[in-house]
Amino acid sequence: MKFYFPDSHDLVDPSFDFESEQRTYNGSRQRSQQYAHEALDEPPYDGMLLSKAVVDGRNKNTRYSFGQVRSLMDNGIHKFLRLEATQQRARLSAMGDCGSFSFASEDEPPFTVDEIVDFYGQCGFDLGISLDHVILGYQPDPKKEIPDDWKRRHQMTLDLAAEFRNKSRTLKHFTPLGAAQGWDPASYRDAVQNLQKMGYDYIAVGGLVPLKTKEIIDVLASISMVRNKKTKIHLLGISRLERFEDFAKHGVASLDSTAPLKQAFMDDKNNYHTHDELFTAVRIPQVDGNPQLKRNILAGRIDLSEALGMERACMSSVIGFARGNGSLDAAISELRAYERLWSGKKDDSERYRHTLASRPWEKCPCSICRQLGVHVVIFRGADRNRRRGFHNLFVLHQNLSKLRPN
Ligand SMILES: [Zn+2]
Repeated sequence: MKFYFPDSHDLVDPSFDFESEQRTYNGSRQRSQQYAHEALDEPPYDGMLLSKAVVDGRNKNTRYSFGQVRSLMDNGIHKFLRLEATQQRARLSAMGDCGSFSFASEDEPPFTVDEIVDFYGQCGFDLGISLDHVILGYQPDPKKEIPDDWKRRHQMTLDLAAEFRNKSRTLKHFTPLGAAQGWDPASYRDAVQNLQKMGYDYIAVGGLVPLKTKEIIDVLASISMVRNKKTKIHLLGISRLERFEDFAKHGVASLDSTAPLKQAFMDDKNNYHTHDELFTAVRIPQVDGNPQLKRNILAGRIDLSEALGMERACMSSVIGFARGNGSLDAAISELRAYERLWSGKKDDSERYRHTLASRPWEKCPCSICRQLGVHVVIFRGADRNRRRGFHNLFVLHQNLSKLRPN
């Protein structure tokens, strides 16, 4: 099963020094920093996904500057995201989509099919998904009334797919994917049936992100009733570690997700992934980077030099323990004392103890764990946190690459 990683400028600074926490950073961030496929010696995905909504200036969520959009259009996506083949690895694929979640609340998509086809052609995408419009609801109970707007979006997505199928024939070395939207297993099945009639043999199933895993399986099982043998399924925005084998059984050939990266620094506890366990990263916030701590220092409730001393003691006792100079109990007691200061109520010390005692970074073959050692499980600053996310992508990719779609 292939894994595509959606681009949203997630880069790390190769000049960051983990001991001194200094960087020698210069020039453009996009040019001087590294994508996950550059930071790791083996790319943690088969390709990247880029949404038109992310680069389109009309969209308020755009992540690209004017200069970056120009460079993308002039040089093409493979050069811009540095996906071209290198001595170490083969060329990575580029998949395009319209980014329909970002305009789901609008009546109509803000783009036309012509604009999408131009975008794919100009950037040189290898694969691209037809323009679609997300249905903002799921209702599997056939006795319940379905809003007209849901039916309208379902039909609109099919009409746009038919138009895209014809217009994308002008693109060279390009695989079109038809988008399927629905509100229950039967409406998704209907969408897939129609897309196959249009000639699609690769179908992107969208709108599944808010669904429970069991509901996603129900949708896939329903699609399997009509799916042609050669039709492949792509799941948009989905990574549910626990059910990949079921996904493969239902013809899922690829998926995309940012979840493994985001969980590294946005999840309360599942920050560092391994094949059989999710670990909590050890939080040692920078005194001047923690809002609550800063407020208390400014108000005179906490002494600045005392806080800085505790932060340093946490870093040195955790690193010391990892290197075999110091006890786990000493590290946990420093972490607990500092946590009381920066967090108040929270007590994650048992989770921290489990992470440090298990030493998962020593068992991971990825180049980030090999280079960073214990720093990869320290929750502190973008350079550590994002690299932990890259490691999570690597683990997911390893799991997925073992699976073959049925
Ligand atoms: Zn790793």
